[in-house]
Amino acid sequence: MRRFSFITIALWLISATLPAQTNPMSVSAPEINDFAATLTFLSSDWMEGREPGSRGGYMSADFIAGIMQLNGLSPYGDIDTLKSGQNSNAEAKTIFQQSYFQHFELKLYYVEKIGPWSLILGRPGSVIVSNVTGIIRGQDSTKSIVVGAHYDHLGIRNGLIYNGADDNASGVSGMLALAKQWCEHGEKPACNIIFAAWNCEERGMHGSRYFVRHTDANPGRVLAYINMDMISRSAPEDTSRRQLSIGTMPQSEGLRQIAIEANLGLSQPFILDLWDVTGHSGSDYASFTAENIPVMTFFSGYQVDYHTPEDDAEKADLKKMEDILKLVNRCILEILEEL
Ligand SMILES: [Zn+2]
Repeated sequence: MRRFSFITIALWLISATLPAQTNPMSVSAPEINDFAATLTFLSSDWMEGREPGSRGGYMSADFIAGIMQLNGLSPYGDIDTLKSGQNSNAEAKTIFQQSYFQHFELKLYYVEKIGPWSLILGRPGSVIVSNVTGIIRGQDSTKSIVVGAHYDHLGIRNGLIYNGADDNASGVSGMLALAKQWCEHGEKPACNIIFAAWNCEERGMHGSRYFVRHTDANPGRVLAYINMDMISRSAPEDTSRRQLSIGTMPQSEGLRQIAIEANLGLSQPFILDLWDVTGHSGSDYASFTAENIPVMTFFSGYQVDYHTPEDDAEKADLKKMEDILKLVNRCILEILEEL
């Protein structure tokens, strides 16, 4: 024991005399154990398909905020006002506290175009729903990278629960696992990293659009948006189960190069399908491209259970997802290094 203490002190003295670390940041990527349970819980029947405004939708938001808090992310949602003062003598004091929830109003009816007809579907009225957002503040706190994934899904239809394991409990559990690694690392990144779980993507990307408009997200403040929507399965024609689709804007050649190089660094690189997001609006990245914010969007392929009640957690390809998160993590590190 005494010998161990001596060595510890000696090492400490040596390290204390070394110059300050100038090496690039190194944050290890999450492993299967860091996301599998979250993926399974979010897509369990308990969450009732995570429809916005439903019990399962609110439970999912609370669960995601709880994990963000446990992992040590700072809240980045609305500023709530709390009144303090327990007895009649104490002067009530208003306390302002930032929460993990960014609330917005969702109209319960929506218009769907079927051929030449416009159908008004859903119910009358509206509900208050929320995005769930946390932040790691960086050395330059005026700039951010946003890492996001939508947590809503289709709810219960005709008595069947649409669990949405791949779409998109996979992306949310991946985002939360990345956040945990970056929080545990402890070192301040060059700029802020905002981790976000969006609501209402399936209804037309309302959550991410609300965030972009209400946090004044523009290319000067948000350097890049990284989207994960469906990252745990493969398309039926992809027999190798190693295809990965990454979308970037045509003007973001640098981001595309980062993706290509990060992929080559994997022990078993993916077969990449690199595509331009221009003119597409398939997921939350479109809320950011609308403001000219550079994006990278990750997608593992249209699987046979897409938007059916069969999209369940036991079908997730956890190894593929682990490798995708390695790639996403490497991309975040590279983007920060280029700042
Ligand atoms: Zn989706």
